[in-house]
Amino acid sequence: MPNTSAIDTNSVHRIHSGQVVLDLQGAIKELVENSLDAGATAIDVRIKDNGLDSVEISDNGSGIAETDWESIGLKHHTSKLPSLSDLYKVTTFGFRGEALSALCALCESVTVVTSTKETAPMGAIIKLGRDGRVIDSSGKIARPRGTTITLTGLFTPLPVRRKEFERTVKRELTKALTLLTAYALVPASVSLSDGRNGVRLRVETISAGKSGKRNIQLSTDGRGSLRASVGSVWGHKALEGVQDINLELDVEIDRVMARREGISETNQIIKVTGLISSAQWGQGRSSADRQFYFINGRPCNLTSVARAINEVYKSFNTHQVPLAILDFQIPPQSVDINVSPDKRTIFVHSEDKLIEALKIALDECFQPSRSTFAVGGAT
Ligand code: ADP
Ligand code: MG
Repeated sequence: MPNTSAIDTNSVHRIHSGQVVLDLQGAIKELVENSLDAGATAIDVRIKDNGLDSVEISDNGSGIAETDWESIGLKHHTSKLPSLSDLYKVTTFGFRGEALSALCALCESVTVVTSTKETAPMGAIIKLGRDGRVIDSSGKIARPRGTTITLTGLFTPLPVRRKEFERTVKRELTKALTLLTAYALVPASVSLSDGRNGVRLRVETISAGKSGKRNIQLSTDGRGSLRASVGSVWGHKALEGVQDINLELDVEIDRVMARREGISETNQIIKVTGLISSAQWGQGRSSADRQFYFINGRPCNLTSVARAINEVYKSFNTHQVPLAILDFQIPPQSVDINVSPDKRTIFVHSEDKLIEALKIALDECFQPSRSTFAVGGAT
C-alpha cells in the first residue's frame, strides 16, 4: 500500500481558499476591488457584529449580466484577463478569478443581488453554494444598477480560523478599517483607468443583536480631491502643513524587463503625486498611522519606500512623522503584482533606483525655503 494519496477536491479547494482570503480585511478588500473594477462611483460597506455576523458591500457599478451568473463563483473564472501575456499589464484590481470562489468556500452563505442597466430597476437575488455554483437565482428585488454581495459566517467552514477570528475580532476590524481608509483615499489620488476620479465610500458598523446600533466609521463624498478625502477621513486639522507632491522621477530601467518588453530606452519617468507633511509640520503619531502608498492607484505595502521617506523626513524633523499619501505611476510592465495572494506586496523593477531618485526629490521638497509656501498652501 502506498503511503501517499490524493486529498479530495473539496478539501483542496478549502485549503487553497484559506490562502486566497486570509482574514476579514482580505475578504473586504476583494469585494471593494470588484466594485471598483465594475466601474462603481459609490460603494457602501456594512459590517455587522465586527464582521462575525455579516459583511455587505453594495455598489453602483455595471452589475452582472445573467449569462455570467453561473461562472462568477467558479475558480479561475474572470471577466478581466483575456490572456496570460496580459498578466504583465494588469490595470484592473482583480484578474485571477479566485476571490468569489474562495469566499464561497469560506462562508456560511454568499448572496449576490445584482442589476444591470438592462434590468434596472429590477434586481436578481443569486445564492451561491460552497462550491461556487448557483443554488438559486429565482428571487427578484427592486434595485438600481449595481451589485450587493453579502457574506455571512465568514470562516465558519474552517473552525480553527473562525475561533481565531472570534478571539482577535477587534484587531481584525481595525485592520479592515485601515484598509478601507486606503480605498477611501485612492480614487481621489489618481484618475482610474476609465477616467473616474472620485468614488464615494461609506463604511458603517452595525452592532450585534436586535438593537443593531449603526456607526459611520468612514465617509468620503467622492468629489475627487485628495485633500477633501483626507479632511473627511481625519478631519481638516490633519491638512495643516501638508504640501502637494507632484514629482517626475527619472529612473533607470531594469535591464531584464527592458529586454523582455523590447524597450530600448535606459530610463523611464515615474510620476509621484499626492500629499506629504512639510518638514516642520509633521504628525505626532506612529509613522504607519497616516501613511498610505499606491502604485497606479492600487494600495500596497511599499516597505522600503516607506522606510526611505521616513528617513529623509527624519533628517529634517526628528520628533514627528509625516502624513504621506503617495501614488507612484509606474508603467504596468515594470511592476509585478502577482507576488502574494492578496496582491498587497508588489515587486517593482529597479526599486532601489526609484528610492534613490525619490530621496533626492524629497530632500528638495523638505527644504525650509519650500516649506513657507507649503504651509501657506495647506490652508
Ligand atoms: P476577479 O476579480 O479576479 O475577476 P472574482 O472572483 O473577484 O475574480 O470575481 C469573479 C467575477 O465576478 C469578476 O470577474 C466579475 O465579472 C464578477 N463580479 C464580482 N463582483 C462584481 C461586482 N461587484 N460587480 C460586477 N461584477 C462583479
Ligand atoms: Mg476580484
